Amino acid sequence: MALAHPSRRPEPGDAEVSVNPLYTREPPRISKNELPATGLDPELAYQIVHDELMLDGNARLNLATFVTTWMEPQADRLMVECFDKNMIDKDEYPRTADLEARCVRMLAGLWNAPSPMDAPGCSTTGSSEACMLAGLALKRRWKHRGGTGTPNIVMGVNVQVCWEKFANYWDVEMRLVPMEGDRYHLTAEEAVARCDENTIGVVAILGSTFDGSYEPVADICAALDNLHSESGLDIPVHVDGASGAMIAPFLDPDMVWDFRLPRVASINTSGHKYGLVYPGVGWVVWRDADALPEDLVFKVNYLGGDMPTFALNFSRPGSQVATQYYNFIRLGFDGYQRVQQACRDVATWLAGEIAALGPFTLLTRGDELPVFAFTVAEGHPFSVFDVSTAMRTEGWLIPAYTFPANRTDLAALRIVVRNGFSRDLAEIMLTSLRRVLEILAKQDAPKQGPAAASFAHGA
Ligand SMILES: *Cc1c(COP(=O)(O)O)cnc(C)c1O
Repeated sequence: MALAHPSRRPEPGDAEVSVNPLYTREPPRISKNELPATGLDPELAYQIVHDELMLDGNARLNLATFVTTWMEPQADRLMVECFDKNMIDKDEYPRTADLEARCVRMLAGLWNAPSPMDAPGCSTTGSSEACMLAGLALKRRWKHRGGTGTPNIVMGVNVQVCWEKFANYWDVEMRLVPMEGDRYHLTAEEAVARCDENTIGVVAILGSTFDGSYEPVADICAALDNLHSESGLDIPVHVDGASGAMIAPFLDPDMVWDFRLPRVASINTSGHKYGLVYPGVGWVVWRDADALPEDLVFKVNYLGGDMPTFALNFSRPGSQVATQYYNFIRLGFDGYQRVQQACRDVATWLAGEIAALGPFTLLTRGDELPVFAFTVAEGHPFSVFDVSTAMRTEGWLIPAYTFPANRTDLAALRIVVRNGFSRDLAEIMLTSLRRVLEILAKQDAPKQGPAAASFAHGA
């Protein structure tokens, strides 16, 4: 199996890079797919790569992704200054390592850990690695409790693919709670019903990549508290806050979803989503040392202190951690609050406008994550997939996809509002959408079905 998947196999005649004659007097022959025998001058190599990448999508018009595509010039400078620092080399780069530890403490405080200065945690390449580590900690704790059967993990069918990877790679049975009717995520009742003595934990998502909704973390914890007092089963909860752990603390301070709930053992977030850092950085924090089994942690000594090292990767640039710290001190609580509130304001406004257009039904309103999903109501001669394709011709990337079991009959469009998607851009997008709808309304019948969906969730 080829894991690198170019959009198509190279054809004969397609083997060489074409070079603009303005760039060089003597056009070189450069193979596309084989390592060239000889090299080029740096400026020419730069121009060739630069031109090729120009054809990637315009990130500002991409309403599919959660990932940060713009940082301030000062952050760009720090990125460049830290590319050569290897995160894993904590002896060589103790200052970078210290910035990492400070970020962990800030997040532990933000998420109300009982003792933020002592909460173990680390940076990762993203939430995917963070979730693997959190899942491994749950699995090891279950083992230490005397677990001997096949371990299982309970979560909604709407989990991001990283949890399916976790279960597959580490031989944990997935107990996925399907969607039902207009319930698109996990509920306390459904979660508890699937728990037994081999359940390593329950994953609650803040919020779901399908529709931006928050799962009811507090209800899930309360139901598991009941289960504990009734049956003795003491099952920890991990909160996958890839997006929401950087939204809820700023916009929903009264909602209790974090370490204020004693049952929450660990929380992850993607620094490169609403943490506002370029890809790839994620974070995972455990409530206290008991939540992270000692025997998973490799201790590295530096600066006379212990840095717990728990990672799947080894070498990784220090840039993202340095700029995460930059964002924290640059924006502070107030700055993050203003940025996230602006996103929520645009999302809820835009959701309202889209609902008012007529053909669409909102599944969510953008008032949890600044993300909302909507469907085409019955009786219109176009599908969500037709809308998605037509919007592409206007330059906008708005994914359409079908929901998982038991709502595979439901297909929706989703808009993710990120920093930089301003009210002005939202208005321009609406103008495009109106134009597209006028044309689509003249179709006889919907043209495209679910086969037209080409979209990976939660990227
Ligand atoms: C994005 C996302 C992930 C994966 O995060 P990466 O940072 O892209 O690895 C996991 N869970 C949820 C809920 C997400 O939204």
